[in-house]
Amino acid sequence: MQDRLTEPSRQTTVLGDYDVVVLGGGPAGMAAAVAAARAGRSTLLLERYGFLGGMGTAAGVTNFCGLHANVHGDIRQVVHGVADDLLSRIAALGGLNKPHNLFGKTVAQAYDTAAYKIAADDLLLSAGVQVLFHALAAGVLMDSPSRVAALLVETKSGRFAVRGRAFIDCSGDGDLAAWAGAPYDKGDGQGNMLYPSTMFRLNGIDPVRAGEAWKTIPELMLKAEAQGRYKFPRKTPIIRPQKSGIEWRVNLTQLANRDGNAMDGTSAQELSEAEVLGRRQIASVAGFLKEVPGFENSYIVDIAPQVGIRETRRVRGHYMLTEADVLECASFDDSIGVNGWPLELHLKGDVEFRWPQIPESRGFNQLPYRMTVPQGLDNLWVAGRCASMSHEAQSAARVTGACFVMGQAAGTAADLALSAGTTAAGVDTAALQARLAKEDAYLGQTW
Ligand SMILES: Cc1cc2nc3c(=O)[nH]c(=O)nc-3n(C[C@H](O)[C@H](O)[C@H](O)COP(=O)(O)OP(=O)(O)OC[C@H]3O[C@@H](n4cnc5c(N)ncnc54)[C@H](O)[C@@H]3O)c2cc1C
Repeated sequence: MQDRLTEPSRQTTVLGDYDVVVLGGGPAGMAAAVAAARAGRSTLLLERYGFLGGMGTAAGVTNFCGLHANVHGDIRQVVHGVADDLLSRIAALGGLNKPHNLFGKTVAQAYDTAAYKIAADDLLLSAGVQVLFHALAAGVLMDSPSRVAALLVETKSGRFAVRGRAFIDCSGDGDLAAWAGAPYDKGDGQGNMLYPSTMFRLNGIDPVRAGEAWKTIPELMLKAEAQGRYKFPRKTPIIRPQKSGIEWRVNLTQLANRDGNAMDGTSAQELSEAEVLGRRQIASVAGFLKEVPGFENSYIVDIAPQVGIRETRRVRGHYMLTEADVLECASFDDSIGVNGWPLELHLKGDVEFRWPQIPESRGFNQLPYRMTVPQGLDNLWVAGRCASMSHEAQSAARVTGACFVMGQAAGTAADLALSAGTTAAGVDTAALQARLAKEDAYLGQTW
């Protein structure tokens, strides 16, 4: 057992009482807080950084996946509702690319992180959400084994308690749910989680000479490796232009421990080591990219504020989304929206995509409300990449589109549960679906 000290017990100041407390300002947390606040609930969102967007900004993702699906050969936007309100604000700031083709099967849509941050502030504040930045949640107080009473947060003004009637864990890591005693899984059962990556962006690229360099870079990588000049952390690079064309985002790092396993985003030590390793890999990859025609004068303009974490805890809910659900485009009676992204498994040294039948299938699966309701807790919802999914299914529905869907549903469900005086599991799903549809969400009930 590790050396331990006993801390003195203390009185903690209550920062406030809220109907709904949302932990985490990523896509799931933003959508959850906006939905709850628009329903008239006093809503507080806590975020450890000084900006919103989660991995989308903090990890430099700069690209929306899962907003669209290949529906019998037609590319359609299948995530709406709160997501549309964010997209229109980013577009108004000139920070949204047109969707770009991926593998001839679907599209993704790039954005600028600065515009995203400004748009997200406006979205939340105009909905009436109270946001507390620079607030790191550190624990919970329980009313009973099944009811969360308060969330403890560390801030520059000291430690506070935030009391709530309903809590929504959108931390990505299931922090709140784990502290509250919810069961969870990590990895594939053999300890393998999706590998993290540190994202960066290059500037100074000649867009004309670079052209569609993402098509030729994999071949150049193979050559450089065969010549023994470079050893890349993973195959299958994702290197694409941002809106200006002189700036490209690069997703080509992979962060493993010395034993070869994925670094764990819930380990303080491994997170710290991952930051250094990510920057070391970036220095090497950026050096190689200067050999690509059009990239000769490129330079690193930004390294994401934090290492990008794809998967840590997945909190067990009343339903666990599976690989078969994604590949077979499953339907659910309690659908809250859809996931149109394939399995995207960041495995050792590579990325593997597994798709539903395209164009024979409708190209998306519905997401059941039950995946946001953790087992054993009455006033807690879990939305986003830490919701109830198998390791494989999470590799798909962790992307931004599905996180918006789960967040909006959880925020709306919290409001309905408070009105009805019921638990998360007791929410009337027909009423939830009616409300989501009225708020312009797409529930996947056509096609
Ligand atoms: C390298 C990388 C590339 C990716 N590429 C894409 C892509 O191209 N397209 C796409 O759509 N998706 C991509 N993803 C996936 C996607 O970005 C995330 O899965 C998605 O952002 C998850 O949303 P979320 O709201 O569940 O959690 P997150 O985005 O992880 O947000 C969680 C938020 O909670 C905050 N938080 C966590 N713990 C605490 C705490 N204790 N106290 C206070 N705040 C806390 C965090 O700071 C963060 O803001 C990528 C992910 C990575 C890592």
